[in-house]
Amino acid sequence: MADPNGFLKHERKTPARRPIPLRLRDWREVYQPFSDDETKTQAARCMDCGVPFCHQGCPLGNLIPEWNELVRLGRWDEASDRLHATNNFPEFTGRLCPAPCEGSCVLGIGDDPVSIKVVEQQIADHAAAAGGLAPRPARTSTGYKVAVVGSGPAGLAAAQQLARAGHTVTVFERDGRIGGLLRYGIPEYKMDSAVLDKRLAQLAAEGVRFITHCQVGTELTAQQLRDGFDATVIATGATVARELDVPGRDLSGVHLAMDYLVQANRVVEGSLDQPEIDAAGKHVVIIGGGDTGADCYGTALRQGAASVTQLDIHAEPPATRDPSTPWPTYPLMLRMSSAHEEGGDRVFGVNSTLLEGTDGQVTGVHLVSGKRIPGGFEPQAGTEAHLRADLVLLALGFTGPERAGLLDELGVRLTDRGVVERDAGYATNVPGVYVAGDAGRGQSLIVWAIAEGRSAAASVDRYLTGRSELPDPLEPSAVALA
Ligand SMILES: Cc1cc2nc3c(=O)[nH]c(=O)nc-3n(C[C@H](O)[C@H](O)[C@H](O)COP(=O)(O)OP(=O)(O)OC[C@H]3O[C@@H](n4cnc5c(N)ncnc54)[C@H](O)[C@@H]3O)c2cc1C
Ligand code: SF4
Repeated sequence: MADPNGFLKHERKTPARRPIPLRLRDWREVYQPFSDDETKTQAARCMDCGVPFCHQGCPLGNLIPEWNELVRLGRWDEASDRLHATNNFPEFTGRLCPAPCEGSCVLGIGDDPVSIKVVEQQIADHAAAAGGLAPRPARTSTGYKVAVVGSGPAGLAAAQQLARAGHTVTVFERDGRIGGLLRYGIPEYKMDSAVLDKRLAQLAAEGVRFITHCQVGTELTAQQLRDGFDATVIATGATVARELDVPGRDLSGVHLAMDYLVQANRVVEGSLDQPEIDAAGKHVVIIGGGDTGADCYGTALRQGAASVTQLDIHAEPPATRDPSTPWPTYPLMLRMSSAHEEGGDRVFGVNSTLLEGTDGQVTGVHLVSGKRIPGGFEPQAGTEAHLRADLVLLALGFTGPERAGLLDELGVRLTDRGVVERDAGYATNVPGVYVAGDAGRGQSLIVWAIAEGRSAAASVDRYLTGRSELPDPLEPSAVALA
């Protein structure tokens, strides 16, 4: 039974961010530690509602009121067990999830919602610090071999679930290191890669085999994959970037966001001395108002950009929940990532019309204000403007997975949206081939990638053995079995 007066006694609190001048000098995580006592106080604000809407808000069906209560009582180990029952990687979501659960928290109707995401991260970090990421290898082997292609959160979640069900799992990754966007997309200041490495050690100890530098569809053919494995999970992400179709796109100094972020992350990990694309001393314009753009923003500031401006085609959202997204839906409202308070400018409701340059090098961006309309943008006459730019980063989202190579060779069908077609059990049209994460869903979130990885694993297990005890978060009735 939760503290019935907890939410009356305590205000919502989240961890403080490190001072801006300090954090701009390094790549360490932005948030300061949160004490056990502070976490217990925040967990005590949970009302343990009869109908916990936060469950529906979380794609993993995390059992939020249960672990809030266990944390309030200081029963960290049990809280960790309940959290890990539904989420393989709470240390990732605790740091990186936009927390749709908090948008569904009942307390949020008339007060600030419970700091669910913080409590989740603290439980996970507590467990890791106390050696709680102990391997849980399967007791027996089924003898079945499963290939997982792609090592982002979807592939890793599927691999861990399948290994725990007794299958022999091999994860193939074309990059030199495991982790997908968790490793080379998301900057270190949002999640220290040591957090990822700790979890990978657990998967390896549970028997998951990792093969890097292997582009499946080229270095390993689809036929070899089919011959060598009893089932395959495609978790290759949605890596095809949306392009900007304006004059000047070909100028030097105009780059896709991921080309920029991957290099910056490689420098931070020490595998690259100097990035080819460097914001130091430059006027940087980021076209695209989402998460990827925000990560370019924080990275450019840390590299010492002379100025950073992020352009968003959408109108500036309201400071609080927009009436079009009433509780318990995910609120449309202005979101400030940590990078946005570190300097630079955000410009809303603008479209870029031309990239200008001198001697083949970009020097500026022409833009116009207006209104986003379905399928386009309505410019407002007389609002044309110009921004100086030595580096332009395109962060316009992703259109879907790469088709050439693996998907074509396997004969996997795509939808009209260009993502891998799948049934309710994450099966593709090719028997024994399943899909999880952004490859089938389109560009999305880590929490969804983990949820789909878990669900696809349950389906693969059923395909191989005829039944499965693996929990399936996207099958509501299964949450209770977690
Ligand atoms: C810059 C950026 C920041 C983001 N920030 C956040 C955030 O803060 N919070 C959040 O929730 N979400 C965030 N997202 C979204 C989130 O990272 C993705 O939704 C998630 O990583 C998708 O997971 P995935 O496993 O499907 O694919 P990915 O993480 O993309 O992993 C796919 C992997 O497959 C590999 N691969 C592809 N093809 C092959 C092949 N043929 N053979 C072998 N390997 C292959 C790729 O190299 C890659 O490692 C961000 C996305 C970007 C781009
Ligand atoms: S994974 Fe995301 S939605 Fe689920 S409880 Fe954690 S912060 Fe909330």
